[in-house]
Amino acid sequence: MQVTTVDSHTTASYLELENRFSAHNYHPLPVVLSRGQGVYVWDVDGKKYYDFLSGYSALNQGHCHPKIVARLIQQAQKLTLTSRAFHNDQFAEFAQFITEYFGYDKVLPMNTGVEAVETAIKLARRWGYECKGIVENKARIIAFENNFHGRTTTVISFSSDPDSFTGFGPFTPGFDVIPYNDLEALAKALQNKDVAAVLMEPIQGEAGVVVPDDGYLRKAFEYCKKENVLFIADEIQTGLGRTGKMLACEHENVRPDILILGKALSGGLLPVSAVLANDEIMLTIKPGEHGSTYGGNPLASAVAITALSVLKEENMTDNAARMGSYFRKGLESIQSPFVEKIRGKGLLNAVVIQQTDPEAAWELCMELKENGLLAKPTHGNKIRFAPPLIINQAQMDECLEIIEDSLASLK
Ligand code: PLP
Repeated sequence: MQVTTVDSHTTASYLELENRFSAHNYHPLPVVLSRGQGVYVWDVDGKKYYDFLSGYSALNQGHCHPKIVARLIQQAQKLTLTSRAFHNDQFAEFAQFITEYFGYDKVLPMNTGVEAVETAIKLARRWGYECKGIVENKARIIAFENNFHGRTTTVISFSSDPDSFTGFGPFTPGFDVIPYNDLEALAKALQNKDVAAVLMEPIQGEAGVVVPDDGYLRKAFEYCKKENVLFIADEIQTGLGRTGKMLACEHENVRPDILILGKALSGGLLPVSAVLANDEIMLTIKPGEHGSTYGGNPLASAVAITALSVLKEENMTDNAARMGSYFRKGLESIQSPFVEKIRGKGLLNAVVIQQTDPEAAWELCMELKENGLLAKPTHGNKIRFAPPLIINQAQMDECLEIIEDSLASLK
C-alpha cells in the first residue's frame, strides 16, 4: 500500500490525507488552519481569517485566550487526571465556583455536550420516578422538532433530522417530539402525567438560529411549573454570553430546573460540560449510578474556572449584546437579492439565503473564505454568523464589508 505523507504541507495535501484516512462524517470548507488568536485564525499558507463560527460557539472567549492557556499549562504541569475514585483540589473549587456563578445547589461534570444532555435525561427520569411518582419505565420527556442535542443513540432517537437518525435505529423510547415555538402543542403534550421534563434549546442553534417568539420561553416554563414538569435548558450553544446574556433563558427571566452547559465552558481548550440542578434533582443519583473517567478532572476544572472568570472580567456578554445589534443593523443595510432573512440574538446570528439555488449558501461561504472570513452553512441555506464575543467595532466593520463584497460577487 502506498502511504501518502504531508511532504509539501499544502492545503491540497492535508485535504487528501484527511480524506483518505479519516471517516467522512463531516464536510468541511477546504481550509486547513494551523493557528488561532482572538478573533483570527491562520491557514497553513499564512492567510488570515476572521472566525465567524467560533467552534460552534465553543470559542466565545476567542482563540487561545492567554489567561486560559496560561492556567491550562500551569495545571497540566501539576495534576491532570485523578478520576473521581479520588478527590482532587481543583474539582472541589470548580464545583463551588460554578454553582455560585449560576446559583444552583450542585454540579455534575462531564466532557462533551451530548454527555451532559444524556446526564440531564437520566436525572429527569430518576426525578420523575423518585419525586413525581411516575411508574418505573413510563417517564416521558418532551423535545422539539428541529432540535439538536448531539449524536448519541439516545439523543438522535428524538431528532427530526433524517441525516441524524436514518440507519441508526433501533431508537430509545420515552420521548415526545412536538413543534417548537408552539405553546398550544406544549400545553397538550403536558397533559400526559408521565411527562417528567421538557428539554429545550432557548434558541435552536443548529436548526439555523431559530429564535422563538417573545414570551415563549417564559410561558413554556410556567406551563411546566403548573404540571410539575422539569424545565431543562440546553444552553450548550446559547449559554456563556453568546446571546448577549450569560444564559439565553435570562432574556425571559427563566431559571431552568436543569441547566446544561458545554462548549465555551473551557474557552475551546478541551471538552468540558456540566449539568447544574438543585439537591432535590441532583441527589436522586447516588454513588456508582453515573459518571465519566474524565468528568471533573483537575485540568478541566482549572480551565473552566478561568474560562468563566474571563467572561465576566472582560465584559464579553455586554460586548456580545452591543456587537450583535450593531452586526444585525449592518447586515440589514446590505442590499442583496440572496438574503431572505436575518435573525439572531447577541452574537448568535444567521442569514437565510434564498432557496432558488441550493448551492448558494455554500458558494457564499467559499466567497467569504476567499475574502478572509470563515463561516459554514447549516441545514442547507442558513449561514450562522457567530464570532468570538471579544470582537470590536472596527473588526466588525471590516467583517460587514467582507460580507457585503462576498454577497455582491455571488452569481
Ligand atoms: N446541544 C446543543 C444545543 C449543541 O449545539 C450541541 C453541539 O453543537 C450539542 C448539544 C452537542 O455537543 P457536543 O458536540 O459537545 O457533544
